[in-house]
Amino acid sequence: MIVVMEQSASEEQVAKVIETLVQVGYDVHRSTGVNHTVLGAVGTPRRPLEPSALELIPGVREVVKVSEPYKLVGRTFKPEDTVVNVGGVPVGGPEVVAMAGPCAVESREQIFAVARAVAASGARVLRGGAFKPRTSPYAFQGLGEQGLIWMREASAEAGLSVVSEIMDVRTLDMMLGYVDCLQVGTRNMQNFDLLRELGKVRMPVLLKRGLSATIEEWLLSAEYILAGGNHQVILCERGIRTFENATRNTLDISAIPVVKKRSHLPILVDPSHATGRRDKVLPMARASIAAGADGLLIEVHDNPDQALSDGAQSLFPEQFDRLMGELRIIAPVLGRTLPLARMPAAGGS
Ligand code: PEP
Ligand code: MN
Repeated sequence: MIVVMEQSASEEQVAKVIETLVQVGYDVHRSTGVNHTVLGAVGTPRRPLEPSALELIPGVREVVKVSEPYKLVGRTFKPEDTVVNVGGVPVGGPEVVAMAGPCAVESREQIFAVARAVAASGARVLRGGAFKPRTSPYAFQGLGEQGLIWMREASAEAGLSVVSEIMDVRTLDMMLGYVDCLQVGTRNMQNFDLLRELGKVRMPVLLKRGLSATIEEWLLSAEYILAGGNHQVILCERGIRTFENATRNTLDISAIPVVKKRSHLPILVDPSHATGRRDKVLPMARASIAAGADGLLIEVHDNPDQALSDGAQSLFPEQFDRLMGELRIIAPVLGRTLPLARMPAAGGS
């Protein structure tokens, strides 16, 4: 249930409504908008509370019964776009944000080289896995904490924020010391214990869409995090499993406008995992921004042919530079901006 307060409602009136909802057993989430305060009542009440009874409380404008199974991630609860602060980088505002870097941190030299290159091209966030969810248990599994230490150093030098994937709640406290955003990978989108723990921290979460998840299931996973009290969630479309096998996955571009209509959360697109081939990354990146995505998550490697994971889909730094140049032309058409390149990228094309 969503309670929309009058523009003129006083703090006492808001407090009275919250008290009434809590008394019957609801958890109450508050959204203080530009015009209205909105209260989201979630959970199962111990006794029924009729919307008409709430509407009689002074200061209440209207009570809306939300038919969607998700509440806090929905636009009814919060009509304005959410802007998530990733270590000082706003995601979901007018600026299109590029998060770029290798699939996995492999060495100190590699992560420094990639960080410098992507920063020069205008990326704002460094991506890189320290814990890798690999299909085979014999494949490279990531460098763990050492990878995060090097990532943090490289990002500090290059002036970037850091996003890295969390696979296990047992690494949460350790990871909080190194990253600006925790990524939940496609395979963990419905790891509800992990999502619940991420709801308790005050750290942005990049939530990837599950391999076979519907948009509703994806939004419900985000709801777990918001219901825990952490409202800093960014969604990431990364392709879904279909019968098509010409690309690694099928990029669901239509998910962007669907999510934008249903939810206030920002949405990024990962064209690297979506297509699995570097020659498909640039056209899909263009399409994503044209369709209204708030940014991109892109794999870039200084030597992709020697990469320990996902080399085939990783861009050369000069390809990433070209991609950013093209997005700088597309973004203004959509009323968006993109940061300028800081200096000529190494080996630019
Ligand atoms: C990744 O971005 O490193 C990754 C493993 O992606 P996904 O979870 O989308 O497969
Ligand atoms: Mn990868």
